[in-house]
Amino acid sequence: MSGVPRAGAGGRTRELQRDDLRYVWHPFTQMSEWCAEDPLVIEAGEGCELVDTEGNRYLDAVASLWANVHGHRHPRLDAALADQAGRIAHSTMLGLANVPATELARRLVEIAPPGLAKVFYAGDGASAVEIAVKMAFEYWRLRGVEGRNLFLRLGEAYHGDTIGAVSVGGIDLFHGIFGPLLFPTVKAPSPYCYRCPLGVSPESCGTACADELDRLLGEHADAIAAVIVEPVVQAAAGMITHPSGYLRRVRESCDRHGVLLIVDEVATGFGRTGRMFACTAEGVAPDLMTIGKGLTGGYLPLSAVLTTREVFDAFLGPPDSHRALYHGHTYTGNPLAAAVALANLDVFEEEDTIAALEPKIALLERRLEELVRPLAHVGDVRQSGLMVGVELVEDRESKRPFPLARQTGAQVARLAREHAVIMRPLGDVVVLMPPLAISLEDLDRLVSVTADCIARATA
Ligand code: PLP
Repeated sequence: MSGVPRAGAGGRTRELQRDDLRYVWHPFTQMSEWCAEDPLVIEAGEGCELVDTEGNRYLDAVASLWANVHGHRHPRLDAALADQAGRIAHSTMLGLANVPATELARRLVEIAPPGLAKVFYAGDGASAVEIAVKMAFEYWRLRGVEGRNLFLRLGEAYHGDTIGAVSVGGIDLFHGIFGPLLFPTVKAPSPYCYRCPLGVSPESCGTACADELDRLLGEHADAIAAVIVEPVVQAAAGMITHPSGYLRRVRESCDRHGVLLIVDEVATGFGRTGRMFACTAEGVAPDLMTIGKGLTGGYLPLSAVLTTREVFDAFLGPPDSHRALYHGHTYTGNPLAAAVALANLDVFEEEDTIAALEPKIALLERRLEELVRPLAHVGDVRQSGLMVGVELVEDRESKRPFPLARQTGAQVARLAREHAVIMRPLGDVVVLMPPLAISLEDLDRLVSVTADCIARATA
């Protein structure tokens, strides 16, 4: 594996870099900053590595935005894609069924938490969240219950970037400018133990944040359609790992107050936390579950909402009852994506991916304890499966953050490039989220590089 000598970039690379800077607007990117540097242009991938246009290889330590599962160019997934392309790339699900989307729905229901019986497809995680929100809202209307117009969501939650998904999110930066466009919600405190929003101590609080959620539900029960949560880990908030038992308490509160539970497994699903779906660690079966990212092994945009027969049945009626769910996208249930998703599930079985994670998770935990946690500016190390967030602070005692302008997390990622590792932090939380297929050797190297870059960036 080797890093990039950008200065030596060849003519084709320079041309691509120039055209990117001239024509492309990148997501979540301050483009004035982007334009100050030559972009790295990725041309290929193999296993857990990305290959740029100069042939340099990098460890994909963010799994191409938390999506890649079995590695890039996995022969099984490549073959499924080619095979499906030889049949048909796309046909609509409005008025027609298609082979892989039908088969995939059955397979998803078979592996889903109990009670989830129906699959509604979408493209990205955010569109699945939009659908879940609409389903939950309409479900009550169709049952003749008026006034359940609110959703309860957590502080620091992230469910995607469309207007509905931002409305049920809790990241202030995204809420600021779009505030006037968002629908109102009830906010419960995030179980962010390192910086507890309730100011209590995790050792003795008895999960006070779950009590507060229950109290809020009691106060607004008749007005709330559903609670929406990221199960076990709030990823985009900085890999906030929830205390054990929290999700179970949320489920119990929903049951007590007669409110639906939407569990957003877009980031945590498909093995990320060491289980196929994170909510099963708490023995929780949601009323609605959103999935995306790893659904296609990180190959193609496909997401879905899984829900119960009870929710589904509420939408049934004669054609003139207008009880259908008025939602769909052009590429809903795209056959190419569904075929790859089926191969993704096959590989989970054939390679026993979940069982193979155990030693990786253990190694990661051990090496983080040895190399990363002792560093002077590491405030907190949070891990669930192969999801890791390392929160950097200027002062460990007071947990004082580094000044924003110092861009400490971004500096760590910049230094990691010199070691041929691609990272993307969340503010000053360094994120490790490699493909599940990563080898023990690469995982070990990733932690060493992380420790080294944190030490240098915070010196
Ligand atoms: N939900 C969760 C929990 C996520 O982490 C994300 C993305 O990171 C989304 C939804 C949105 O998914 P997408 O980026 O595919 O729209």
